[in-house]
Amino acid sequence: MAEIFFKSMNRRSFIQTGLAAFGTLVTLNSGCGTVLTKSDEKQTNLALLADTHIPQDVENNYRGFYPYRNLEKVVPEIISASPDEVFIAGDLARLTGESGDYANLKKLLSPVAEKTPVFMGLGNHDNRENFLKVFNEIPGEKPAVKGKHITIIEKTPVRLIMLDSLLYTNKVPGLLGKAQRQWLENYLKESDETPTILCFHHTLSDGDGDLLDVPRLFRMIAPIRKVKAIVYGHSHVYGYSEFEGIHLINLPAVGYNFSDSDAVGWVQARLTNRGGDFVLHAVAGNKDRDGGVTKLAWRKG
Ligand SMILES: [Zn+2]
Repeated sequence: MAEIFFKSMNRRSFIQTGLAAFGTLVTLNSGCGTVLTKSDEKQTNLALLADTHIPQDVENNYRGFYPYRNLEKVVPEIISASPDEVFIAGDLARLTGESGDYANLKKLLSPVAEKTPVFMGLGNHDNRENFLKVFNEIPGEKPAVKGKHITIIEKTPVRLIMLDSLLYTNKVPGLLGKAQRQWLENYLKESDETPTILCFHHTLSDGDGDLLDVPRLFRMIAPIRKVKAIVYGHSHVYGYSEFEGIHLINLPAVGYNFSDSDAVGWVQARLTNRGGDFVLHAVAGNKDRDGGVTKLAWRKG
């Protein structure tokens, strides 16, 4: 499920935020040989989060991590990065998607949501009804796919589509389902050639706890060249891979890791119509890769 959370941002500030992303000279590559983008190249700056696992009890902890405190630490970092949008790829709540979990999430995100739209997808530890009770002021039209909620964010120079992979609350696997896949296929065929990024919660392997319709999704999107990347969470492991030139970007968790070797934190992305650079902001766990930049070029259209 994907939803948007605005607090008090008005249209004027939205436009100003959007325009601020254009026309600036930025460093796109901090590796060997710095490349500067053209001064008139359009870009968008995003904050990408996953697996916040916010509990009702702020003292709730797992493996020595306190998810509430981690997000509390991340929020000022996001604000100082001034993103155009914030995305959270599901598992917003601790385990079973309680109303108190979402109330805390809303409270923690409020300073960000006052400045920047926050888009949220639901994962296997979320509960739709409880989520909607707390995040009940949701503007905008969404495509009608029964039982699934989708958000399309048309943001020059890229389009983001938040899909819904929640199948059962507090059970591991996920599913887009036939109706959502068919909607997506039609939408992708009818939309213009803007580079498109898909975002949802579940991982893309062939295990019983992954997205169960990955092969069908991959078969559908492989020939649709405007699909450039998939952003997802679920594993609590930060990593990059590829399928048919489509970048698969697995976000780290904000709440906690499952292994000491993994970072806990979020990713800042600066995207153009040619690709993007992705910077890890590690706040806990393994911080060895903190500040590391991953530069990706989109596959050719
Ligand atoms: Zn999770």
